[in-house]
Amino acid sequence: MEKENIYVTRSSMPPYEEYIEAIKPLWESHWLTNMGKYHQELEEKLKEYLDVPNLSLMVNGHMALELAIQVMDFPEGSEVITTPFTFISTTHAIVRNRLKPVFCDVKLSNGTIDETKIEDLITENTVAIVPVHVYGNVCNVEEIQRIADKYNLKVIYDAAHAFGVKYKGRGVGNYGDASVFSFHATKVFNTIEGGAVAFSDSNLYGRLYNLKNFGIRGEELVVSVGANAKMNEFCAIMGLCNLKYLNYAIQERKSRCGIYQKELEEVKEIQFFKDNTNATKNHAYFPILVDRDVRKNRDKLYDLLKENNIFTRKYFYPLTSDQACFKNKYKRVDLTNARTLSEKVLVLPVYEGLSRNTIENMCVIIKNYFE
Ligand SMILES: *Cc1c(COP(=O)(O)O)cnc(C)c1O
Repeated sequence: MEKENIYVTRSSMPPYEEYIEAIKPLWESHWLTNMGKYHQELEEKLKEYLDVPNLSLMVNGHMALELAIQVMDFPEGSEVITTPFTFISTTHAIVRNRLKPVFCDVKLSNGTIDETKIEDLITENTVAIVPVHVYGNVCNVEEIQRIADKYNLKVIYDAAHAFGVKYKGRGVGNYGDASVFSFHATKVFNTIEGGAVAFSDSNLYGRLYNLKNFGIRGEELVVSVGANAKMNEFCAIMGLCNLKYLNYAIQERKSRCGIYQKELEEVKEIQFFKDNTNATKNHAYFPILVDRDVRKNRDKLYDLLKENNIFTRKYFYPLTSDQACFKNKYKRVDLTNARTLSEKVLVLPVYEGLSRNTIENMCVIIKNYFE
């Protein structure tokens, strides 16, 4: 039994003095937002870290995704192929753009969209594919691009989980037309709230700028209809500070994931997602898959850990397609694998600063449960 509650993650924060020192200049400039100095600086630093040619910072990951879809200018009511095994934001971003989500099943091996099932879902109304690098597991980007090229579709990746992941030596944000990252407090890299769109066509920079800043281009000039999705300077500075510790944080996460892996490998009721040898990992999450059994299963394990003050998460259950707001509203597709994963998956706590002792205790509870 843990004395203090253990949650699935804990937000990374730089040393207090360092952040306080870093925000001091704001009391001189009084420039708190509107694409200030730190906004620009973070944009440059992230382009470098993520190894992408173009990037636009946003107020959060969801708005980044909404605007990345909006900037493509799809006709209202068009179809977008996506997956339901994700955070609700992915589906909301499509629907709020007045587009129709067409859910595609995922692969049991890593939870990403099953590329072999995409072509069957394409109709004359299909305009885009919005796949998700779920848990940082990289989609089959080559095959998805081949299909997109064949049918003239855009590809917008929800890369909210894949910050810093490299695939075949390149930043994962180089694939597709755009990739969206989230810097929410719970993500591996955070700016408190924040996000970004990385994209291939440099012309999109100006158009995303208009979408995130009311289309304002001069004191008396508004050129297009836009929202407000700017990142403020306090958040940008938080990002600049956190970025310095990110490689350390990822290493610390990695060693903790290693303990789970080693301890839980021997439990035959538990499986793991398959690693991609061409991709690096950011260790943002440690998902396990628990056998479905009436007597012992994911939900009972979740409850047991909770009784021990360990708060794991059923990411992602239910599927977004099964949520009250979307259920039975869209094209019926066989989602057997997505449903299977959503009933088996449990995300265990991992973050820098989580004591190794706590992880070992958790593993003992889990192993005892299955004995
Ligand atoms: C976190 C997340 C988002 C949304 O990002 P916010 O920064 O929280 O708005 C979108 N998609 C996925 C898969 C996420 O995990």
